[in-house]
Amino acid sequence: MPGIVMKFGGSSLKDAQRVRSVADIIEKNMKRRPFVVVSAHGGITDMLIAAARLALQGDVFGGFTNIEMRHRQIMDGLGIDHAVLAGNLRGLEELLRGISLVKELTPRTLDFVMSYGERMSSKVVAAYLKQRGLSAVAVNAYDLGFITDANFGGSRPLKDAPERIRSAVEQYEDDLVVTTGFIGKTAAGEITTVGRNGSDYSAAYFGAALGVDEIQIWTDVDGVMSADPSILPSARTIPVMSFSEASEVAYYGGQVLHPSTMTPAVEKRIPIRVLNTYHPDNPGTVIVADGDAPADAGIGS
Ligand code: ASP
Ligand code: MG
Repeated sequence: MPGIVMKFGGSSLKDAQRVRSVADIIEKNMKRRPFVVVSAHGGITDMLIAAARLALQGDVFGGFTNIEMRHRQIMDGLGIDHAVLAGNLRGLEELLRGISLVKELTPRTLDFVMSYGERMSSKVVAAYLKQRGLSAVAVNAYDLGFITDANFGGSRPLKDAPERIRSAVEQYEDDLVVTTGFIGKTAAGEITTVGRNGSDYSAAYFGAALGVDEIQIWTDVDGVMSADPSILPSARTIPVMSFSEASEVAYYGGQVLHPSTMTPAVEKRIPIRVLNTYHPDNPGTVIVADGDAPADAGIGS
C-alpha cells in the first residue's frame, strides 16, 4: 500500500517545465511509495466550462481548439506522443457537439465536460513519468473506488468507498498510480465532481482511505504563511499548525486549504503537509491533528 499521497495542483502542472519539476519531486520520493493525485493543467477547468458555454450557443470549436492546443503544447514540451490524449480529445469534441445539438447544459453534463481536465492531465503526467523510467499508470479515480452520490457539482463518496479504494489500489502494488483529483462516478456510471478546487479533498480522501503516513499538497507557495507575502515581504512559513488553526486560516481567507478539504484527514489524524513545487526542499507547513505532537520533521526524507 502507498505510504504517502502527493497531490499536485493545476499551477504545478501548468506547462511542460512545471510537469518536469513535478516528476523530479516524485522521483525523489519514490522510497515513500507515493500515490499521486493531480488536478487539471492550470486554467483548463475554466477553459472547459467556457467551451461548454460556447457549445451551448452553437460554437463547438471556439473553446475546444484552445484546450487541444494547450495539451499539445505540453505534450510536445515533454516529448509525449499525441496519441496519449487522442481518445479523450475526440470524446470531448463529441460531447461539445452533443451540447450544441441538444442546446442544454445540465450540472450533470458540465461535470462530464470538466472531468476531461483531470482525465487528460493524469495521462500526460503518467506518460511522462513512464518515459523517465518509472512504472507509472494513469487510473481514473472512479476506477479506483471513488464512487459518489449523484449530487453533480458537489458530490461526496459513498460510505463503502474507502473499502473499494483499498481493494482497487491493491491491484497496483508494483505501479506508481497517478489518479484524477476532483472527479468521481455514481454507482450508475455517471461522472461527477466534488466541486471546484476539489482535488485537495480527493487527495485527503484517498489518503484517509489508504491510511498513508502523510498527505502532501504541492502548490506554488511555501506552505501556510504568517501573512500574504505579496503584501508583507517579511511573511514567514508557519512550520506546524493544528487542524483547527488551519481551518481558521482557511476561513479567514488564507487561501491554502478549504476546511472541508481536510475532513477526511482530520478523522484519521493524518498530517497534511503543504509544500511548494518551486522550492521543494522547503519543508512547508505540516497540519497535524489537534493535540498531536508536531509530526517528526523528517521532511522530504
Ligand atoms: N481542476 C479543478 C478546478 O479547477 C479541481 C482542482 O483544481 O482542484 O476546480
Ligand atoms: Mg486548485
